[in-house]
Amino acid sequence: MAFPIKTCVVCDEEFELRPDKPGFANRCPECSAPENDPVEKRRMDAVERQTTAEANEARRQAMRELLYRKDS
Ligand SMILES: [Zn+2]
Repeated sequence: MAFPIKTCVVCDEEFELRPDKPGFANRCPECSAPENDPVEKRRMDAVERQTTAEANEARRQAMRELLYRKDS
């Protein structure tokens, strides 16, 4: 089953216009969901996740030290 091929107005990539595709008909799936540059957004999300993971680890470490100090 072939879908019509459209060119995304945002990134100029060709994409299949599927009936169940969310967002705009003239935007590829990647450009439909977020409002701005989706590549930049995804990259930011990855950085943010990494930062959050590091922050959580630092918090756990601090908590352990706090507990350890309290017990001793
Ligand atoms: Zn696009």
